[in-house]
Order: sequence, then structure tokens, then C-alpha cells
Amino acid sequence: MFASGDGLRTGRDLTDHLRARLSTVLTRFAPAPTGALHLGHVVNAIYVWGLARALGGRVLLRIEDHDRQRARPEFERALLDDLDWLGFEADLYPAGAYRMGRCDGRQSERDAIYRAALAPLAAAGLVYGCRCSRADQAGDRYVGTCRARNIPLDDGVGWRLKLDPGIEAFDDGLLGPQEQDPSAQCGDLLIRDRLGNWTYQFVAAVDDTVQGMTLVVRGHDLLPSTGRQIRVARMIGRAAPAVFAHHPLIMKTATQKLSKSDGDSGVADLRGAGWSADDVIARARELSGIESFE
Ligand code: GLU
Repeated sequence: MFASGDGLRTGRDLTDHLRARLSTVLTRFAPAPTGALHLGHVVNAIYVWGLARALGGRVLLRIEDHDRQRARPEFERALLDDLDWLGFEADLYPAGAYRMGRCDGRQSERDAIYRAALAPLAAAGLVYGCRCSRADQAGDRYVGTCRARNIPLDDGVGWRLKLDPGIEAFDDGLLGPQEQDPSAQCGDLLIRDRLGNWTYQFVAAVDDTVQGMTLVVRGHDLLPSTGRQIRVARMIGRAAPAVFAHHPLIMKTATQKLSKSDGDSGVADLRGAGWSADDVIARARELSGIESFE
């Protein structure tokens, strides 16, 4: 059972809670092809597909290759193969759609969509060019040095979205009520970097909006991003935000999260070592304590 402050909503309780809040469920699995699929992804996929199936909803597969320096086609191919092998088949943009070549589910092919989302914000004077580097920031917060410099939105400079101070409150499906002030967290949001890459925060918010996601289920590490993504979604015209649910990450040790570089957790490595898909899913369930959603 869930009570605020005293733990997570899980299993059937989570399904019932989401069913009461959502009439239509469209959710997504959104890996970045910057490494191999590992048990952490499998945990997320169990939540995403498990909840979608329990709620009679659909799953969209989005390939988050917005970072063109880090994303690689061979990682994408391996991700698709691993998902197929595990039996996670998307309803929208399934693996086969990516294998055909061009696919609208790939963020690197959505530049026109991101520019269209940006246009009204830029016209309203809410976006500015920025020459600062990370070293100019106070911790994670950008202090606004270039806000008044009138640097045009050219290639070769960063593009930032002005964020006014203010709280975003949301009721996390797993964690309960949350409050975040995006401006206090990160200052004006970098939406495109000086290399011309759209940033995760911007494209995730745009895609979740234009693709009509009603439910976003992802790991706890992304909880701090949610207020800013809700804010961006509202600024580009989304009336009511998606419902967000952030699940626990599986940890390597009490303080270290599992990462792609941990050889023993890669899906392909486990498969190579003779594990069946059911073994891998059972291991992910066991490590994360996932209960049945039905
Ligand atoms: N692409 C992100 C990742 O691989 C997931 C983003 C999201 O679910 O919002 O961690």
C-alpha cells in the first residue's frame, strides 16, 4: 500500500492508481543508442510494457539519438535486437520500422519538429544565444550571463530558453506529490548546444507533447528533469501534462547505480553466457522487486 512518505505505490496499487487518472494510455520506451541495453533498461521496459498491457494502452519506441557525437548506429541495431530477443515489441515505431531506414521515431530525424516547437518561443523573445561554457555555471544552475547580450540563434552558440521562477507541482504515480522549481534547479534551460545537438530536456518534452504521451514511466535518476519538462511542455502549448512515474533504479552497490559499462549486466553479455530471455527478465524483476501489475 502507498501512503505519502512511507514508500512506493507498486504492482496492482500502481495500476489502479494510474487507471483512475488516465482514460487513454500511451507511453514510451526511450533508450539512447550510446551503449548497450543493460538490466536497468530491462527494469524500465518491464514497467513500461507491464503497465501499458495492464491498462490496455500502447507503447511507442523512441530512439533518443539527439546527441550526435555519442549516438551510434551499431548501438541502435544492438538495442533493437536485444528488445526483440526479450520480447518487448512496440505498438508504434516497432523495431522493424527503424530497420527499414528512415523512421520518425528517431530524434535525429525530427529536427523540423523541434524547430517548429521552438519558433513561437523564439518569436516571443524567450530564447537567446549563449556563449557560456559549463565552467561559467554555478553548479548545475546557469546564472543567465548571456540573457541580456542579444546573441542571435546561430550555429556555434548554445540556445537557451528563459525560465521564470515558479514551482511545478505534480503527483508522481509511484512517489506521490512532488514540487520542483526548474529555474532554481537549472536556470535558463539549454535547449540546443553549440555543436547543434538538441538537448535531452527539450526534445523529450517536445516529443512527449507532440507524440501525445499520456504516461511517462522512467527511472528515479530522471525525477529532477520532470519539473522542467512539464514547464517546457506547457510553454509549447500542452494544456495538461503527462502523468509521470519514477521507479527505483537497480544498484550495483548501495550508492552506485548500474551502468552500461558494467559488463555483467549487459543483455547481450548475459545472452552470450547462455541466459534465456526469461532468465534475464526474471533477474531484472528480482533485483528491482517488481510486482505484477495485473
Ligand atoms: N533516453 C533516456 C535514457 O536512456 C530516457 C529518457 C526518458 O525516459 O525520459 O536514459
